[in-house]
Amino acid sequence: ATISVMDQETVLPPHVLIFPLPLQGPVNSTIKLAELLCLSGLHITLLLTHHIHTRLLKYSNIQSRFSSYPGFHLETIPDGLPEDHPRSIDRFIEVLESLKTKSSILFKDLLTSGKLSSDSRRPVTCIIADGTMGYTCDVANEIGIPIMYIRTISVCCLWVFFCLPSLIQSRELPFSGDDLDTPIKNIPGMEEFLRRRDLPMFCRFNLSDPNVQTYLSEGTENPRAHGLILNTFDDLEGPIVSQIRTFCPNLYTIGPLHAHLKLNLESFSSSPPSSNSLWKEDMSCIPWLDSQPPKSVLYVSFGSLAVMTKEQYMELWYGLVNSGSRFLWVIRRHSVLSDVTEIPPELSKGTEERGCIIEWAPQEKVLAHGGVGGFLTHSGWNATLESVVEGVPMICWPYFLDQQVNSRFVGEVWKLGLDMKDTCDRVIVEKMVRELMEERKDEFRKSAEEMAKLAKQCFMEGGSSYCNLERLINDIKAM
Ligand code: UDP
Repeated sequence: ATISVMDQETVLPPHVLIFPLPLQGPVNSTIKLAELLCLSGLHITLLLTHHIHTRLLKYSNIQSRFSSYPGFHLETIPDGLPEDHPRSIDRFIEVLESLKTKSSILFKDLLTSGKLSSDSRRPVTCIIADGTMGYTCDVANEIGIPIMYIRTISVCCLWVFFCLPSLIQSRELPFSGDDLDTPIKNIPGMEEFLRRRDLPMFCRFNLSDPNVQTYLSEGTENPRAHGLILNTFDDLEGPIVSQIRTFCPNLYTIGPLHAHLKLNLESFSSSPPSSNSLWKEDMSCIPWLDSQPPKSVLYVSFGSLAVMTKEQYMELWYGLVNSGSRFLWVIRRHSVLSDVTEIPPELSKGTEERGCIIEWAPQEKVLAHGGVGGFLTHSGWNATLESVVEGVPMICWPYFLDQQVNSRFVGEVWKLGLDMKDTCDRVIVEKMVRELMEERKDEFRKSAEEMAKLAKQCFMEGGSSYCNLERLINDIKAM
């Protein structure tokens, strides 16, 4: 006999559809949220684009990982682009546009077709979608399903986005001339330390660009959802979280998601979470790290999207070798703009003696490894949180999006490292590596360890992320 709708509601758990932005960082953290919600007994449908799904099947253990959750279900949707589209960051607007124009119809069909429910599964009771995909909110409103947004960038950058219209109104934006050290005055909470160069990179260019229009509307877009789920913790970004609350009252700071999940899995004596990698992880770096002295290695990685010119690549390489530090460097395929054919002998020698170069790392494991003492990073938000949790001090070389803001906070507010910002010069690289790994290492390690301790406390019973996750789950149950 089939169960009536009323019986289903009393017997079966709520059913959440989770839809991450199809990029490595958001996919990684949002899948961690999906698993946290699975652990709490909710039914989850994870919706991925075909493209992301194919790569996850190839390079991560997601399939076997989630097979242990009877309430978990995976669903895919095309992103509407041809197979050979690069889906790179400079053309990501095309991915977003295509999702909006072509896939939103499929998204709606999926939710209304009855395909996602059965005798043992309620229809979707709540949607959690990335806040960058505003059309999901239109669809949710149209069909009457409550929606929450997940934001996987830093809250400090989200707040900068919210304040962009007032920067324009106060004529701080657009700025002409190249004095990038001019202070920015109209972002509440950041008056003391934010400069033009700490604003997202696009602020230096044409604000009428359609890409930029999306960021200008963040302050009106985000409050449309029932709540915002934020991958951060109150001890790190609390004051800025309070600023966001003036726009969006219902916030859930439940991060750092990767560490929150790890702890919850440990308490269930479950195996570690899936890697969620879109590239093949080169595990050979772990035995290499094992053979290095404690905290002697600088880990170097610029995430999944950034690309560098040949000149920047050579400056970095010289800086790393000249610093005398040991280093583990991730050079993603196609991340250097042109081929480097001739490698000077001093670089090959220094690299052979002290370096290890791979194409993609098991990053969380690397940062947790006792051999790592510093991280030269692009300040992507996931990278930053992963480093914070492990107490690894950073040198920041930001590219775009939230990275300029994040690196300012790392260097100036949280004192967790050095902000290299707009320079990529071998002398500066060498100097900063020496400073981080030798001259000022005690000072940076002390503040990094203190922050790591706070990060770990926030998801212990009674901690802010612990309580907020509980509240999120209760709110989902009440929907
Ligand atoms: N990552 C990884 N191996 C690498 C480099 C990055 O697993 O060699 C992961 C990293 O742990 C993080 C994600 O890829 O979770 C990148 O996200 P982030 O926000 O740091 O930067 P983005 O790639 O979005 O610029």
